[in-house]
Amino acid sequence: MRLKIAVLAGDGIGPEVTREATNILRAVAELGGHDFTFVEGLIGGIAITETGSPLPKATLDAALDSDAVLLGAVGDNKFNSLTPDKRPEAGLLQIRQALGGFANLRPSTAYKALSASSPLRPEVTENVDILFVRELLGGLYFGAPRSWNKETNEAINTMRYTRDEVVRVARIAFELASKRRKKVTSVDKANVLEVSQLWRATVTEVAKDYPDVTLEHQLVDSMAMHIMNIPRNFDVVLTENLFGDILSDEAGVITGSLGMLPSATIGGAVNLFEPVHGSAPDIAGTGKANPLGAILTAAMILRHSANLEQDARAVEQAVHKVLDEGYRTADIARGGESITTQEMGKRVHQAL
Ligand code: ATP
Ligand code: MG
Repeated sequence: MRLKIAVLAGDGIGPEVTREATNILRAVAELGGHDFTFVEGLIGGIAITETGSPLPKATLDAALDSDAVLLGAVGDNKFNSLTPDKRPEAGLLQIRQALGGFANLRPSTAYKALSASSPLRPEVTENVDILFVRELLGGLYFGAPRSWNKETNEAINTMRYTRDEVVRVARIAFELASKRRKKVTSVDKANVLEVSQLWRATVTEVAKDYPDVTLEHQLVDSMAMHIMNIPRNFDVVLTENLFGDILSDEAGVITGSLGMLPSATIGGAVNLFEPVHGSAPDIAGTGKANPLGAILTAAMILRHSANLEQDARAVEQAVHKVLDEGYRTADIARGGESITTQEMGKRVHQAL
């Protein structure tokens, strides 16, 4: 298997956690006889410092020429005086837009060894493994009209979807579910919103092409409760943009630490992979960053851009193993003994 990965480490803890993730990918390549190449690019604050732009053309070209983009984190307070379109975060928005992915994947996995880090009881979170599929290019975030009229004190946003936009993201959810536990839970607010009625009708129609996958519909308000009460009931959860934003953060509680959460954005020109956490400037350079979110993000590259399911699982199992063995970075140590970013990366490598 050949794979060209653009590595955009970015700012803060981005380079620290990305280094551990690429080390694991190198190990996977060696163990599996794959040919992975890595092309580095600047993005965010570091890119502004070195080139004046948060997303230099060379970075964008490298990303578009790759099979997958691995992004660390973007953000640096020292650029706070710049206008939003010139700040480090603009680099992230621009690359997301350029790659055009419309399906944002966020797993929410319970780790037995970390159950004490979650406010939920262990018997509630045991074996939980949810995959959120959030539509990313439609809904309230993008719908027109949108405005804030300061004279009339009226503001407007529009939740808009077309049938085609729902079909394409629903297909991704069903494809993924058919390789998992074969259940899709579609979340909407069809008792109130017409846009949700279109969503529900369309998802129901797409489901007919996947007879081995069970489809259920949930209203977003009751879903918010179910995620806390009965998270084990869910496999793939398909939602529109805003509902997915909220519910996937809520479900992060099941895992227990921001430093443990991976994500992928697929469906566009090139898939984009990034840990959920940001640049965490408070701990940058201290060796305290948890690299497991980035390492689990690397596993998602293997699964979603290289079709290397076994290798992806091996990385995920290695993460479970080091946690079961008791290794912790500071964010998940609960005041107990902790190891550094690099040591954690090495432990995962050994477990692999
Ligand atoms: P950004 O603006 O880049 O999103 P932020 O400060 O808003 O940054 P995060 O960087 O996502 O938010 O993280 C919030 C806090 O969570 C951090 O300040 C840090 O203390 C902690 N944190 C985030 N990621 C990690 C990690 N990988 N390992 C350990 N702690 C983390
Ligand atoms: Mg943040």
